[in-house]
Amino acid sequence: MTETESKWDEKLKRFFKDYYWNEILQLANEYPDQRSLSVDFTDIEKFDRELSKEFLDHPEELIKAAEAALREIDLPVEKNLEEAHVRVIKTPNRISIRELRSKHLSRFIAIEGMIRKATEVRPRITKAAFECLRCGYLTFVDQNSFKFEEPFAGCEGENCGKKGPFKIRIEDSTFIDAQKLQIQESPENLKGGSQPQSLEIDSEDDLTGDVTPGDRVIINGILKSRQRTLKDGKSTFYDLVLEANSIEHLDKDYDELEITSEDEEEILELSRDPEIYGKIVSSVAPSIYGYEDIKEALALQLFSGVVKNLPDGSRIRGDIHIMLVGDPGIAKSQLLRYVVKLSPRGVFTSGRSASASGLTAAAVKDDLNDGRWTIEGGALVMADMGIAAVDEMDKMKTEDKSALHEAMEQQTISIAKAGIIATLKSRCALLGAANPKYGRFDRYEGLAEQISMPPALLSRFDLIFVLLDTPDHNLDTKIANHILQSHYAGELFEQREKLPGSHIKEDFVEAEMEVIEPVIQPEIMRKYVAYARKNVFPVMEEDARAHLIKFYTDLRKTGESKNTPVPVTARQLEALVRLSEASARVRLSNTVTLDDAKRTIRITMNCLKNVGVD
Ligand code: ADP
Ligand code: MG
Repeated sequence: MTETESKWDEKLKRFFKDYYWNEILQLANEYPDQRSLSVDFTDIEKFDRELSKEFLDHPEELIKAAEAALREIDLPVEKNLEEAHVRVIKTPNRISIRELRSKHLSRFIAIEGMIRKATEVRPRITKAAFECLRCGYLTFVDQNSFKFEEPFAGCEGENCGKKGPFKIRIEDSTFIDAQKLQIQESPENLKGGSQPQSLEIDSEDDLTGDVTPGDRVIINGILKSRQRTLKDGKSTFYDLVLEANSIEHLDKDYDELEITSEDEEEILELSRDPEIYGKIVSSVAPSIYGYEDIKEALALQLFSGVVKNLPDGSRIRGDIHIMLVGDPGIAKSQLLRYVVKLSPRGVFTSGRSASASGLTAAAVKDDLNDGRWTIEGGALVMADMGIAAVDEMDKMKTEDKSALHEAMEQQTISIAKAGIIATLKSRCALLGAANPKYGRFDRYEGLAEQISMPPALLSRFDLIFVLLDTPDHNLDTKIANHILQSHYAGELFEQREKLPGSHIKEDFVEAEMEVIEPVIQPEIMRKYVAYARKNVFPVMEEDARAHLIKFYTDLRKTGESKNTPVPVTARQLEALVRLSEASARVRLSNTVTLDDAKRTIRITMNCLKNVGVD
């Protein structure tokens, strides 16, 4: 017994008996199918403050001591809990990945985020048996580190002690399942669209195979460092890796955005404003001039329709997919960035992103992980339950194009490659932007061909907007004014930031910025959207339903007679329903009214006109 173990042994045993007796009995019954005792950190704190503090500072020793104590507890059943683990959950030391510093090394911490990569589960040797080829004796060497250890002290056989040769005996060695994961900051925790950071995780035994990319988790464990190797030796830099002790799954509706009761009051107050609709729409990208229809549609996308789970087990998505197609330099990218900022969970990416996973997901052989196959979730997986804004979609990879069909409609991504079969979730709304292949959009050419996307894929978008850059002196002057004004306001804003507390300055700046400032500030808008999506599930009134059906059937009739670029199918009806529901959600209303239906039809008509159905 080590010093720490004997010091804490009595206390730990008493803790287990007082707090976890039933759980231990259950573990003993199920062992070895169940191998972990899950301990709530707050229980340790309640039991003994000193012990809980010691645990955070010296987790390695304390976990060993706890597992030793667990093994020695007298059980009513005949069981040896030799390989049982003590797994601690709900640790208070929640640290964001970008705040990890060397002071956290060897401490017990909790990291929250989304799983981005997961390798295959593979055995790792923990105790290697070396057979001495001279005397036949088996020498065991514990394998605790990353590097394979050989019997340096020589054969332990009586009167032998020779330095080999040895032969490793697999059948007498001990192995454990091991899996490497990569966790990444969740989109809702990123401020201002910054790039997410990630951390490597080592998991073993019964923790393996438990998560897939896209899962939201809290991982509790010990932060370790691993020395980097250079071509000609070792580096003075170390990489961080978290040795997982326990994994907590966050439920799918988990919402990180904290909405206080004051926020809620403000949200409800806003929702009662008869002008709420206009206020929300004008708070979408106020620094972009014009595009009222598009901003309206983007607002609806933020609020989203309602998911429907049908009795036969199938599911109709509530997420609204929108595509912006058009000439370069007309603020498509800007609109995308704005939506990401307003979405409670937004992910921005480009179709030509270099990562292997691309937009959907990939199984790659990752040399970082000793050449093991690794599943990596792409943007649509990481945007699960949010909005994925994909710029330059025309430049996306061919594999992504085919995977997108499933990702957009079923909202899952299936991988079957090299013996790996996995299904990842991608329950997000897609906001795409594409530039036409030949630089400028030609309104007499087919849309699908110009942005090199198959019509079947285009038909999965609820709305497609075509933006043309036609010189118009009047409009150009207005845009120019607007742009210069927002630049000027931006500068003043920066100055104001540098001079907090100067009221004279503030008043002056406020006056100058009138046009550009959103009516509803982004922070409260994000909360408003999150609140609506979580609490409001509108149902359609009869006259709204009749109105939509009439519009749809008429559309089918005209669609048939013309050669439309995007066929009018039942998908359009579903899209109309989603948009109307989103429209009701804007005022936090549980009923979709005729007005919502009419608004939806107006937006849809404008869109169809652009793509050439009229
Ligand atoms: P795109 O992605 O369509 O090629 P960008 O989003 O990169 O275009 O826009 C190019 C620049 O032009 C941006 O700085 C944007 O703010 C500006 N811009 C273009 N149209 C407008 C507009 N209607 N209002 C304000 N700024 C605009
Ligand atoms: Mg662009």
